[in-house]
Amino acid sequence: MAVAIHPSVDRGIAPAAPGFAGGTLACKCASNPVTVTLKAQTAHNHVCGCTQCWKPEGALFSMVAVVPRDKVEVTANADKLRVVDPSKTIQRHACIACGTHMYGRIENAKHPFHGLDFVHTELSPQNGWSPPTFAAFVSSIIESGADPAGMGAVRAQLKALGLEPYDCLSPPLMDAIATHVAKASGVLKA
Ligand SMILES: [Zn+2]
Ligand SMILES: [Zn+2]
Repeated sequence: MAVAIHPSVDRGIAPAAPGFAGGTLACKCASNPVTVTLKAQTAHNHVCGCTQCWKPEGALFSMVAVVPRDKVEVTANADKLRVVDPSKTIQRHACIACGTHMYGRIENAKHPFHGLDFVHTELSPQNGWSPPTFAAFVSSIIESGADPAGMGAVRAQLKALGLEPYDCLSPPLMDAIATHVAKASGVLKA
């Protein structure tokens, strides 16, 4: 039996819909859910093995994408949101009732990903979001309790799904971070 990665990829990955322009995320509360409206398509969607991203119950990986922060608006029950850990670079705004992370925001203006919010489009009833295209921080699932001996099977399943496994971010995103740092230090012309 194939290793279960995440409910949104285990039965095949749906493609993005042409012209898709956003939708609404809702937390898991049966009544008075927090809703967050995204007024744009997401980018850089991927599955993530880190210990910080919100994962659905029982999933090995989270699925997380980015969207410009000015396209993110809390549209219902904002009073139920709290930052999970204010000491973290990404301020993850979660529902205090059900624990679902609704959006993660970087407030440090010097950070390479400042201006982008991190979101989980599986929380949306709409179809057509950008699909995940790689797997980040794969080795970190061990920190959440995954058996180290099973990592070969996990990486094989990710490859079978077309989600190239990386133990950091993808090469384009690592290049973007390094470029930002090189421009900030003056090594590269801004
Ligand atoms: Zn909730
Ligand atoms: Zn993560």
